[in-house]
Order: sequence, then C-alpha cells, then structure tokens
Amino acid sequence: VAVTKTVDPARITEAYRCGLRHFGENRIQEFAEKRPRLVLPSATWHMVGHLQSNKAKRAAEWFDWVQSVDSLRLAQRLDLAAAEAGKRLPVLIQVHLGGEESKFGVEEQELLPLVEGVAALAHLELRGLMALPPYFGDPEQVRPFFRRLRELAETVARQQIPGVVLRELSIGMSHDFEVAIEEGATIVRLGTALFGPRPQL
Ligand SMILES: *Cc1c(COP(=O)(O)O)cnc(C)c1O
Repeated sequence: VAVTKTVDPARITEAYRCGLRHFGENRIQEFAEKRPRLVLPSATWHMVGHLQSNKAKRAAEWFDWVQSVDSLRLAQRLDLAAAEAGKRLPVLIQVHLGGEESKFGVEEQELLPLVEGVAALAHLELRGLMALPPYFGDPEQVRPFFRRLRELAETVARQQIPGVVLRELSIGMSHDFEVAIEEGATIVRLGTALFGPRPQL
C-alpha cells in the first residue's frame, strides 16, 4: 500500500500511472481535500490512520478498506455506514503492541472480544490485523513486535471463531518492511520509500 499522506494528487496520479493500485491515507480531512482531484478508476483506498467514531460514516463511504479498527464502537459505526452505502467493508483490527502512550490500537487482552464483536457485524469483513510498532533506528529491534502480531493472529485462529479467518498482517513501513515480510507481512505500508521524505508538520 502506497501511503500518500502529504503527497499531492498530481504525484499520486503519477504513482498510479507507474502501476501502483493500493493507496493509504491517514486523515479524513486531508483525503476530503484531495479526493476531488483523484480520478483513479481501479485504485483501492485504505484508511490507515486513527479514526474517530464521528468520522466513520465518511470513512466507510470513501475507503475500500479500513485498517485501523480499534474499538467495537467504531466498528459498529462503520458497519452502519457500510450498510447505508450498500457495501461490505474489508477491515483490519489495529493492535497496540508498543508501550507508547500515543499510539492507537486495541490492547492485546481486549483483542479476542473485539474480533468476536467485529465478526458478528454483517457489513464488515474482518480480514486480519494491523500494527504500528514503535520506531527503532535498527529494524531488527522491531522484529519481536511483528512476530508478536503474527502470534496473536495464530492465537485467534486457534479459537476457531465461526467465519473468522485472519489472512492479512499489515506490518512494515519504509525502514523495516523487509523484516516485516520475513515475519509474515501480507501488506506493507510504504510512504517515504516511494515518495521521499515528508515535509515536517
Ligand atoms: C505514514 C504511515 C506509513 C508510512 O510510513 P513510511 O515510514 O513513510 O513508510 C505507514 N503506516 C501508517 C499508519 C502511516 O501513518
């Protein structure tokens, strides 16, 4: 997934012409501004950033995937909005693996109940897990976090919850995606590696 936050529509279009088809944004407001200038017929859009429940409606309408589901309340809002939009929305549950206060995601011990809750929602399609581990200069230090997410997915699989197959692991960004792939990533989310450094906000 090409993460296009801060990238302008002209450059996103250029990336599309180069063959990229999956794109990710992390803020509804920014996407609202760029969307009218993005006419990319076979693009798949992923919401990868934290979503407040009150933005769930637009997220369900505009995005093809939501990778950042981290509460039942948000999942229920997305389900309702997807129903209204007449679609089934593929989602990932974001898990909080690091010890950092500022990062979002469901805590490990709350994952199973959330999986069960999301699986019961008719207009969401639970496809897997996503994580955004803490940043380390040395990508090897991120490996245990990636491994932990894979183990959590395996733990969920062992519960044999009807209809739940967590095929996707969305882990790995520009500086650590190779390690993430070694640990089982099926989706990597790349910004800097594709578009260069982002302006400091
Ligand atoms: C910005 C962002 C990325 C991409 O980060 P890079 O280090 O530039 O590859 C991936 N995932 C999420 C959730 C992001 O917000």
